[in-house]
Amino acid sequence: MKSSSHSTLHNRNVENRPIPSEYFSGNDYKKYTDENPKQCQASSSHSNADLITNHLNETTAAVKTANGTRQHQWTINDFEVGAPLGRGRFGHVYCVREKKSKYIVALKAIIKDQISTPRLAKQLISEISIQSRLKHPNILRLYGFFHDDQRIFLLLEYAPGGELYRRMQKEKILRESEAAGYVYQLCNALSYLHSKQIIHRDIKPENILIGVYGILKLADFGWSAERTETNKRTTLCGTLDYLAPEMLNGSGYDEKIDLWCLGVFTYEMIVGKPPFDSQTQQDTIRLIRTNELSFPQAASNHARDLISQLIRRNPSERMPLNEVIQHQWIIENANMKAIDENYEKINKSTLMNHKNEN
Ligand code: ATP
Ligand code: MG
Repeated sequence: MKSSSHSTLHNRNVENRPIPSEYFSGNDYKKYTDENPKQCQASSSHSNADLITNHLNETTAAVKTANGTRQHQWTINDFEVGAPLGRGRFGHVYCVREKKSKYIVALKAIIKDQISTPRLAKQLISEISIQSRLKHPNILRLYGFFHDDQRIFLLLEYAPGGELYRRMQKEKILRESEAAGYVYQLCNALSYLHSKQIIHRDIKPENILIGVYGILKLADFGWSAERTETNKRTTLCGTLDYLAPEMLNGSGYDEKIDLWCLGVFTYEMIVGKPPFDSQTQQDTIRLIRTNELSFPQAASNHARDLISQLIRRNPSERMPLNEVIQHQWIIENANMKAIDENYEKINKSTLMNHKNEN
């Protein structure tokens, strides 16, 4: 789901920072306000809970058909609940252990009544149906889900390193070798997503977790969407600091929006703040529109080159992912061999492998 838990630290959430209407061309702003929770208060949370329950039942059936009959029907009694890992907008995340296999996962418990608008219900359903289909070492696995009258439980891969955002807050600036390793891994995750016609749309350090062996795990598919051949998407979403110009202009966008965010993410890791950071939202939006990108002296030439080739106003001029992973900055800084070896190691260890062995 859309993250809002860092609002006290550094509020970068568009939902919590509505952007003035004059910054959008007519249609797009209308769409945004139509989807604004405050505009939807008339709908009762009860009907949303029913909507979610029905969709979850349908999704369970669909996943079952896709995976054959071996799909396991979890209940809360299958798990020993351990320490809380954190708190999200709609509930808590716990470290839990499956009793039979002893495998450790993260259990996200979402209170159905807190999904108070049809838009949030749709977002959650889309998040579950997209994330449960994704299997890639750099994408946080959603192993399964189940629900009771009050709660929906998501069984997620456990990421012991927590959010990359926390690490960046602590370190301020990451070493270029570490940053390049994350960029390489994020490129791998995005190539996989885009090959499945999925756009993440909310790439930012808050949505990246650190898994075992320090492997990057892209999470939070609440804003992700499937791209259709004919329709370019127009919904306004994401985070202000990471908003791409085509999203602001409402002219429609495609998967190249994730390339813009990849550039912003790279900049933030090595500079310590996002490139269009300013005192006011209006200023940030103006800087995004005019593409006023400046670098501190310490930034290396290769890093500047890569970032400038991703943060391009024209989406078709952004460097494609297959070229990003061959860029000089990545080649010189990322330890790709070690990362690829880690992929091999984690492939052998998942909850599903453990279940099948039992
Ligand atoms: P939401 O997604 O509900 O809008 P959020 O993204 O802020 O809110 P959650 O995804 O619910 O929050 O997670 C809350 C916290 O729990 C995170 O900040 C993170 O520290 C921790 N957490 C979440 N998922 C995992 C996981 N799979 N492994 C380890 N820690 C996790
Ligand atoms: Mg989250």
